[in-house]
Amino acid sequence: MPKVEINSVTCKACELCVSNCPKDVLALGSTSNPSGYHFAVVVNQDACIACKMCAVICPDGAIEIYK
Ligand code: SF4
Ligand code: SF4
Repeated sequence: MPKVEINSVTCKACELCVSNCPKDVLALGSTSNPSGYHFAVVVNQDACIACKMCAVICPDGAIEIYK
């Protein structure tokens, strides 16, 4: 089962990962990071197919996918 890890500190809540995930695994959360951004969170881990689209598209390199 793949595992998605999002760096809550470096995420700038651009939402690119959320809108490009084909499986709706990610969403912006309700908690702010120290920079004031509502960082992305994993809401449907089990649906992840480890395509790495989110990690590739993130401009801040805030996502790691572990298989
Ligand atoms: S690896 Fe693919 S399926 Fe998994 S969260 Fe990222 S974009 Fe979505
Ligand atoms: S693409 Fe990166 S910076 Fe943008 S919301 Fe997702 S994790 Fe955060």
